[in-house]
Amino acid sequence: MFVGELKGDIKGLSGIGKKTREEYENLGVRTICDLISMTPRGYEDRSHRICIGHQNDDEGTWTNTFVRTESVNLFGAGRKNVKIIVRDTENNQKAFLMGFNRTFLAKTVFPGCYYHLYANITPYGTGLTASQFELKPVREDDIMVVGDMLLDQGILPVYGLSGTLTQKTLRRDVKAALAVAGHIDDEIPQTIIDKYHLMPLDKAFREIHFPTSERNLRDARRALAFREVFYLQLQAKRRPPVERRRQAIDSKVYAAETAFIKGLPFELTADQVKVLDEIRKDMSGPESMNRLLQGDVGSGKTLVAWVSALHAICTGAQVAFMAPTELLARQHAQVADNLFKDSGVRVAFLNGEVHGKPRQALLDQLKAGNIDLLIGTHALFSKDVEYRNLRYVIIDEQHRFGVEQRQALLEKGVEPDVLLMTATPIPRTLALTVFGNLNVSTIRTMPKGRLPIITHLVDDSKRDRMYDAVGVEMQRGHQAYFVYPRIDDEGNSDLRDVQTMYEFLSTRKYPQFHGALIHSRLPEEDKISILNDSAAGKLDYLVSTSVVEVGIDVPNATCMVVEHSENFGLSALHQLRGRVGRSSLQSWCFLAYEKTITEDGKKRLAVLRRTNDGFEIAEEDLKIRGPGELSGIRQSGFLHLKFADLEKDVPMMAAARDEVDAILSSDPGLLSMDNAVIRQVLAV
Ligand code: ADP
Ligand code: MG
Repeated sequence: MFVGELKGDIKGLSGIGKKTREEYENLGVRTICDLISMTPRGYEDRSHRICIGHQNDDEGTWTNTFVRTESVNLFGAGRKNVKIIVRDTENNQKAFLMGFNRTFLAKTVFPGCYYHLYANITPYGTGLTASQFELKPVREDDIMVVGDMLLDQGILPVYGLSGTLTQKTLRRDVKAALAVAGHIDDEIPQTIIDKYHLMPLDKAFREIHFPTSERNLRDARRALAFREVFYLQLQAKRRPPVERRRQAIDSKVYAAETAFIKGLPFELTADQVKVLDEIRKDMSGPESMNRLLQGDVGSGKTLVAWVSALHAICTGAQVAFMAPTELLARQHAQVADNLFKDSGVRVAFLNGEVHGKPRQALLDQLKAGNIDLLIGTHALFSKDVEYRNLRYVIIDEQHRFGVEQRQALLEKGVEPDVLLMTATPIPRTLALTVFGNLNVSTIRTMPKGRLPIITHLVDDSKRDRMYDAVGVEMQRGHQAYFVYPRIDDEGNSDLRDVQTMYEFLSTRKYPQFHGALIHSRLPEEDKISILNDSAAGKLDYLVSTSVVEVGIDVPNATCMVVEHSENFGLSALHQLRGRVGRSSLQSWCFLAYEKTITEDGKKRLAVLRRTNDGFEIAEEDLKIRGPGELSGIRQSGFLHLKFADLEKDVPMMAAARDEVDAILSSDPGLLSMDNAVIRQVLAV
């Protein structure tokens, strides 16, 4: 089977219940194929023993050894923390393991027993200590008999997580998915596989997740990257511009648009006007539009999308607007309902959760052409969704939106125009290498009257002043967000968690204000009602886990507090910051960090204090990002290549492009035996 044919739902895998399934949904993972296609963002090499005191931070290695525990004690306020003293069975070195907020350790770890320890142990004072660690019980006998063999867990994948998913769960589920997958067939003509010595795809998928050696990992990545860019370019080039018959645009269209724009409570910025002209020109041109709209958060991209949607609708088109998450889609739908209420545009929201009759009713309306603008997530392009006349597709911040989905979407329409919106600037040359034909529009200026957001870096000594400052803002009737990184349930985390912090804020710091806690484990309806309350000004502050949940437009919000900000990428922080400063009010962003921050980490944060310009930030991100960290470009969904590296794999992309050109020029219909496989893959 081709990997794209593995369409079985992941809920069929044992251990994946409803909650876990939802968490995966947030990562855009629904099928066995999606799960197998997830790329690890890094690896942990646990194949060698590294004794306590021998950890090498330059190499990024962690301690990986056997220990005997000497004592396990609770300490600290409320006795919520656990201190475990361990000794290495090899060199007898002592280390202190500090489990903050991990009382459960006191119930599961016993003094005088043996454990496999995987930890980030660093000098502290005169001793060695770790707050990030994993302990797994082992029998003393086993250490004696099989020793280091027992330690060897090989090279383990590390995935990008969402909500309560843990590395452990992901590893388990990917393993299970690979097991049920059977044999994964190659997708590239054998002659090309031979020519470039590409690893068979079946092996490559297995090695990319659970590498048996560094070399195999490298080869697996190469094979997957080649396949990725090969199909990307093939699809870009196989879709030759098609002559379209255009509906004549009469004066009525312009009248409707003008009225709409006049009805807005503000004037369009010069850049918005310019971009709208570019889009209108594309739309009336002989070829379908393929345009990337980039502009900083809050620069007014979405508004441009609405006006251009109206333009298309006035010419008789149906429009689909895709958002990356349910919540955002819902918010967009509300905004659109409101904006278009006097314009006669029929707006609908398609939710993956809606089944049965209501769904069928909506789909019937869509098919009959009684819906002009459909807003939703990937659900917009599910198999059963049929449009009458889909001619314009808008994709908002398409994080985690792959090439395959893009294709599915295009096939729903009649040579639809496509507008991709991103807040992450992408160099034009790069976009062209990857997608062939693509135009770029840029919004550089912010709407009038916006004050630059003031950003403060906050260490422990300033934390109280930060809380006070936010309190003053809330007193003035403005709103605040508090964001904490996701909780790593694996147990090697001493990060502040949302629950504890919410308790702390609501009882100790801000008892007089109304706050709410929002995270991915809440039922959908609760999230919606909280976000609605927040938008309506009924809440003074939100405590939240991730970007998505605050991907909301509340002009009255003026404070963004991000804790453990050193753990976020610059672009992600910039996105979070963009949730405030959305009106003429002065806004603040507080980036709180821990004392464990590195010099480089401080430098990175300083970039955000210095500038509010997303373009500059993306560039800095590229320049100073640490090893293994994703660059802003790669994070952007639009150029989201799963395997190929936009910087390092340029020669490979060129090779793939040459092969694609050669194939398409000698066999445009892909009819030869050699190319049959391509035809089959495209048909999946
Ligand atoms: P983006 O999608 O680029 O993040 P939005 O289109 O969501 O930005 O706009 C952010 C906020 O600014 C919204 O509340 C929107 O209504 C408002 N806005 C958009 N264009 C303008 C403008 N020209 N003048 C003032 N406010 C604007
Ligand atoms: Mg937006």
